[in-house]
Amino acid sequence: MTKPVELPHHLRKIGHVFVDESMQGSPVALRVRDRLNGTTQENIPWTIVSPDADRVEFDHGDTQALYLKEYKGKFLRFCPGTRAYHCCGYRIIHIGENCPMACSYCILQAYFQDRILKIWANQDTLFSELGNAFGADRNTRYRVGTGEFTDSLALEHLTGYSRDLVEFLNDYDNVALELKSKVVDLTWMQAAKRTDRILPAWSLNAPFINEHEEFDVSTLRERLEAARTCAEAGFRVCLHFDPVIHYPGWREGYAEIIDMIFDYIKPENIAYMSIGSFRCMPQLTPIIANNFPDTDYIYNEFVPGLDGKARLLRPLRVEQFSFMIDRLRKHGMDKQLYFCMESTKVWNEVFGYSPKDFGGLGKRLMEQAFRD
Ligand code: SF4
Repeated sequence: MTKPVELPHHLRKIGHVFVDESMQGSPVALRVRDRLNGTTQENIPWTIVSPDADRVEFDHGDTQALYLKEYKGKFLRFCPGTRAYHCCGYRIIHIGENCPMACSYCILQAYFQDRILKIWANQDTLFSELGNAFGADRNTRYRVGTGEFTDSLALEHLTGYSRDLVEFLNDYDNVALELKSKVVDLTWMQAAKRTDRILPAWSLNAPFINEHEEFDVSTLRERLEAARTCAEAGFRVCLHFDPVIHYPGWREGYAEIIDMIFDYIKPENIAYMSIGSFRCMPQLTPIIANNFPDTDYIYNEFVPGLDGKARLLRPLRVEQFSFMIDRLRKHGMDKQLYFCMESTKVWNEVFGYSPKDFGGLGKRLMEQAFRD
């Protein structure tokens, strides 16, 4: 008898699958069932959810549930940026909600307080909506991503969702897709016909923050090795320092990870790189304190921002940003660097210019995303 294989570490807590009755025969549901076969989680319960059910009830201690759902809302959305700050004009392809990993600072804890990982299984509806939007005018370009309400690749091993999306987008060269993650799954690569339209992306942080605040994720070296594999295959990658956290030793920590990046890839392999300070909705602080009692950066000096979120005092943000930008510039980075949700004042203080000097952040990132 063959020994059952283990799923990747971040998927081992999945202890139950729910499927909407209408989605039982969907390619995603069939694939999840197939891929669970032969694994240690082969025999986890499957529950078919009837259309009359109000909600899925699930409370099984430390385990998580995967819910393959028929989604009735809009799949293509605007990123919820704030007008008061420079926002990058990103569009979101909404493929599901929640994440199996656990980062203490994750905003999803405030959005979704259950342990149910939702995936929209009605991909035919998704593709038809995307086809109508992207096909309407082939001269309009879109920079899109799936990692807003979930991690783009967290469930890829079971669902193959990003691979399907990459395959679908082969027909739309006016779309650049960013796949943003903290794990490594490169199976989507085989489906990509154009290496210049897919932007694999990883979030990075100081090694101390990675060790103490990010759980069930791939190591920083694994992420950078994956970035190198993508670069060698002709893709450009995106990297994100978000959230930058103020902790004792932050200089050494951020210097170490910045230097480490260039052991693996060159500046020209990077389409763009964001830097964003830790931001926190008021309701998130007690959730972090409760879920991660050892976390102490939430007690730093914060001020309420124009979007209602608490952020580190401006002089401290500017100090951290200046340190990181200087170091990145020494490694040859320049136009790829941008701030996520910062004011004109902060841009000017750190970069010496602001997005209006180059026609807006959305325009700049669109140029960086599309090589031609
Ligand atoms: S990997 Fe991303 S989405 Fe998942 S818990 Fe961490 S911050 Fe949240």
